[in-house]
Amino acid sequence: MPSVDEVLRSAKLVAAIEREGHAATREAIRTVMSRLRAEISKGNLDESGVAIALSGLADAVERELRQSLGSSLKRVINATGVILHTNLGRAPLSAGSLRHIHEIASGYSNLEFDVESGERGHRDIHVQRLFQRIFASLAYEDGSTPQTIVVNNCAAAVLLALNTLADGGEVIVSRGELVEIGGAFRVPEIMQKSGGILREVGTTNRTRISDYENAITERTKLLLRVHRSNFAMVGFTEQAASEELVVLGRKHKIPVMEDLGNGLLVDLAAVGVNGEYGMRDSLRSGMDVVCASGDKLLGGPQAGVIAGQPELVNRMRKNPLFRALRVDKLTYAALEATLLAYIREDYSAIPALGMIFASAEEIRNRSESLVSRLGTLSGLTLEIRPSESVIGGGTAPTATLPTYVIAISPKNHSAEELQRRLRAQNPPVIARIEEDRLLLDLRTLNPEDEATLVQAIGSIHSASNVG
Ligand SMILES: *Cc1c(COP(=O)(O)O)cnc(C)c1O
Repeated sequence: MPSVDEVLRSAKLVAAIEREGHAATREAIRTVMSRLRAEISKGNLDESGVAIALSGLADAVERELRQSLGSSLKRVINATGVILHTNLGRAPLSAGSLRHIHEIASGYSNLEFDVESGERGHRDIHVQRLFQRIFASLAYEDGSTPQTIVVNNCAAAVLLALNTLADGGEVIVSRGELVEIGGAFRVPEIMQKSGGILREVGTTNRTRISDYENAITERTKLLLRVHRSNFAMVGFTEQAASEELVVLGRKHKIPVMEDLGNGLLVDLAAVGVNGEYGMRDSLRSGMDVVCASGDKLLGGPQAGVIAGQPELVNRMRKNPLFRALRVDKLTYAALEATLLAYIREDYSAIPALGMIFASAEEIRNRSESLVSRLGTLSGLTLEIRPSESVIGGGTAPTATLPTYVIAISPKNHSAEELQRRLRAQNPPVIARIEEDRLLLDLRTLNPEDEATLVQAIGSIHSASNVG
């Protein structure tokens, strides 16, 4: 066996060293050689096998470098039809957001600098002014309009709000709203971490306003409503209206807060998604505080938005936890561009909304054109058929959007095998399976990725035909 230094001097690795540096290349050689030694000592390689392995050493080192120094976080093609797919990064950002991130993050910015006065400024004013416009028509009884601050995500928003408003006191929540959102966000646990004491009322399926009223004591600091988000309750159910909670809160001078989650700012009725309740609806009902996610139906970056009574939001701003949970310039840049699109009513600029509002007809046309670009592929049966997309991300759990999918059934292997091969592409293609067919829903595909998808299917197909 040659030494690591001998391999390092080989002419074939000059380019690799130039590109990746000495230290990384040396490390890759070590990894490859110890793998080879392990194979030899296990008796897996005879003399000629060792010779072949040694002659391919430089190539093996190149492969190892590509693998170990490539990004682990990489883009994938989402052909699942689940728009806010939490595992695939929820909302894709708008082109405007990306341009703004690039401009702000590649140099310096006035993140916390007041250019006019030349003095220190506040990072939250950049989006606060936009939310102010978005919520301009919503005034509290004293004439004030909702103030907004932004933290890392909605879980952080709830934590900050509960800690500010209810530390050491009781928070009344319906037993029908003690949800787990996923990724270990559970209302009772976040409550405990906030210092608030959970006071459950009602039953799993029915909670009346009188249940809240009967539980109010001098220890009560907050009435909390939690949006059920990722599940629905049907049958013999009852829930106090938000307006009733607000009236009760005002009567006892106790703030009322809604953990809304979805961040919706538009009406989804046009696409048949009814009853989804947004940030404006929540504030209009009189909620003193609303918490929402930036990357759910708002369609922006991961962020937690807290909107509400100026006095309460100011208290949250002064909480040291706010400093710990604050967001960076990248998030502000993406959020600012997203909110500007709302103010211009340019909803199609927001990819998640564009995907929600895309008609089934449009998706069928795109599917047909993609199938015709694929041509006839022996061994694969392709068929376009009606199906359903979902919004996902723990929103509108019972709503579906009519769509068309390309259903592929391979003749020589299973749909699971095709799914695995698509995941092995670069970029990986993620698709779902139904009744042993692989389904591609173009609703969640950027049209620019259609050529890549055609190529991926084509290359899998030709490889499996050769093999
Ligand atoms: C999604 C959701 C959360 C958590 O939001 P993240 O932004 O993922 O932290 C909290 N509460 C509700 C009601 C939600 O729907």
